[in-house]
Amino acid sequence: MEKITKRRIAKTDLVVLRGDITTQDTDAIVNAANSGLRGGGGVDGAIHRAAGPVIDRECRAYVEEHGKLPPGRAMWTDGGNLPAKYVIHTVGPIYRSDEESEPVLRSAYRESLRLADNLAITSISFPAVSAGVYGYPLDKAARVAVTAVSDCLRQGESSIRLVQMVCFSEASYAAFSRALTAV
Ligand code: ADP
Repeated sequence: MEKITKRRIAKTDLVVLRGDITTQDTDAIVNAANSGLRGGGGVDGAIHRAAGPVIDRECRAYVEEHGKLPPGRAMWTDGGNLPAKYVIHTVGPIYRSDEESEPVLRSAYRESLRLADNLAITSISFPAVSAGVYGYPLDKAARVAVTAVSDCLRQGESSIRLVQMVCFSEASYAAFSRALTAV
């Protein structure tokens, strides 16, 4: 049976599921990018590989024009060969402490949702930003992610009707499900 945990927040379904973000057919998927937008390991590498060269080109052009993307900010590219129409690239914090890192992680989710609203799309998938090589403790990363997203959805009129938190591992799924139940 496919594993899914679901909550309704205002007009939006917030869903936690196990899966691979590169196969999601939401309007946008979010990439846990690095500031140089050069692709890399983890979910970033998987998205760049699956999307094909178009997002490498757009990322390079963005950095040439605007410079590196700071942690907590977001930009978007085409989805290339992905089922998703757009990739929203955000940079999470490298975990240092809750005081320092939590506001930046919250901002990464908030800025991604703001971009999605600007694009007037209705569905988006997030990975567990910063919870891999950037070292954010999984339970904390999940709690920050779910509260940041639900706060945004409760605050304003959003075009988004579906937000998926796509968990690659069972541990990640368990952490995000717990966070969703507590929110
Ligand atoms: P960060 O540098 O922000 O920590 P990582 O890519 O190292 O980013 O990890 C972020 C999360 O993405 C981790 O929980 C990792 O298990 C997960 N992940 C890796 N590949 C995929 C994928 N294809 N789909 C969804 N999540 C993935």
